[in-house]
Amino acid sequence: MRKVSILGATGSIGQNTIDLISRDPKAYDVVALTGGQNIAQLAKDAIDLNADVAVIADENLLPELRAALGDSSVEAAAGNQAICEAATRPADWVMSAIVGAAGLAPGLKALEQGAVLALANKESLVTAGPLILGTAKAHNARILPVDSEHSAVFQGLAGEDFDTVERIIITASGGAFRDWSLEDMAVATPAQASSHPNWNMGQRITIDSASMFNKALEVIETKEFFGCPHEMIEVLVHPESMVHALVGYNDGALMAHVGPADMRHAIGYALHWPLRRKLPVERLDLAKIGQLHFRDPDLVRYPALRLAHEVMQAGGLSGAVFNAAKERAMDGFIEGRIGFLEMAEVVEEVMARLDRRHINAEMTLDTVSKTDHLARQTADAVMAERH
Ligand code: NAD
Ligand code: MG
Repeated sequence: MRKVSILGATGSIGQNTIDLISRDPKAYDVVALTGGQNIAQLAKDAIDLNADVAVIADENLLPELRAALGDSSVEAAAGNQAICEAATRPADWVMSAIVGAAGLAPGLKALEQGAVLALANKESLVTAGPLILGTAKAHNARILPVDSEHSAVFQGLAGEDFDTVERIIITASGGAFRDWSLEDMAVATPAQASSHPNWNMGQRITIDSASMFNKALEVIETKEFFGCPHEMIEVLVHPESMVHALVGYNDGALMAHVGPADMRHAIGYALHWPLRRKLPVERLDLAKIGQLHFRDPDLVRYPALRLAHEVMQAGGLSGAVFNAAKERAMDGFIEGRIGFLEMAEVVEEVMARLDRRHINAEMTLDTVSKTDHLARQTADAVMAERH
C-alpha cells in the first residue's frame, strides 16, 4: 500500500484526487487530509478513507471538526502549523493542492521528508521556485507537475534530450471573457468571472483564467520547473482546451499533448508515474470534434502576460511580489473594491513600488513570506488610493 496525503483535500484538485484514490482503496493508505473551512467534506472524506489525521486551517473550527469526526479513529487538528506538521508525517506521495501562497510551507515540509510531491499549487514555483527545487534536490525528493499544461510538457519531454528543445508552448482557453469587449470586461462582476467555459475549477483559479493571470503564473511556473529561458516559452490561445501544451524540437517537430479538459488525467499521471494506468476520463473523438482553433494572445487585453515576462527577467523575489499583489488585488475585486481590469493595474503598480532592494534579498521561506506580506500591504495601499 502506498501512503498518501492530500493538502487542500476539500478543493477542486483535492476532490478529484480523492475520486481517483477511492476507486482503488486497497492500493492507498491515507495519512493526512487537510482543508481550509469545509468541515463536513473534510470529516466525511477522512472517515471514508480512514485517514490518520484531518486538519482544518481555521483554528476556530477545531471543536466542530472534532464533533464531525465523532467516534471515528481519525485524529483532528487545526491551524497552519498543524497543516505543516501533517505534511511531515511519512508518506510516499503528497498532493499539494492548497490554493495560493499558503501552499508553499507545507509543500516544503513534504519534500523535506522525501515524499514525491504532486504539485498543483503553482504559487509555490512562482513565489519560490529555486527554494522548492533546491529543497527537493537536498532531500532527494521528486516534484511532479499537476498543472495540466506542465504535465503535458513533462509528457512531451519524456525520453528526449532537453538541449534539442527550441520552444515550449502552453495553451490558454481565454477564460470567461474570451469574446467580451474591453468595455464589458471593465464592468464584469466576480460572479461572471467565476464561470469557466471548459474547466471546472476553484473560484480563484477561474477568475485568474479570465484575466490570464493564471497563464502568467503558468509561464513563470514553466520557466522555474523546466529551467528554460523565458524567451523559449510561448502562450497560444486555444478555445477548445484539448491541446494542453506543445514542445517544439530543433528538427521542426511539435509534440502536442491532446486530451480532455479533466484534471484527473494530470493528477492520475502524477499518481502513477512513471507508469501509465487506466484513468476514468473521456476518450476524445477527434473526427467528431472536427476542428481545433489557435490564435496569439492579445497583450492589451491580457497585461498579466507582459508582467510575467517582467517578473522572469527581474528574478529573485519578484515572483513573490507578483503573486501576492495578484492575490490581494483579486480579494479587492471579489469584495467589490476594484474593477476586473484594475487587478492588473494594481499588480503593476505594486511591482513598480517595491524596488530591487526587496527583490534581490536572499530567498528563504522567511524572506518569501516577508516579501509576500509587504506586497499585500502595498496592494492594499494602492487600492485605497484609487477609490
Ligand atoms: P480550491 O479553491 O478549489 O481548493 C483549495 C484548497 O485549499 C481547499 O481545500 C481549501 O480549503 C484549501 N485552502 C484555501 N486556503 C487555505 C489556507 N489559507 N490554508 C490552508 N488551506 C487552504 O482550489 P483548486 O482549484 O483545487 O486549486 C488548488 C491549487 O491547484 C491552486 O494553486 C490552483 O492554482 C492549482 N490548480 C488547480 C487546477 C484546477 O483544475 N482546479 C488546475 C491547475 C492548477
Ligand atoms: Mg493550468
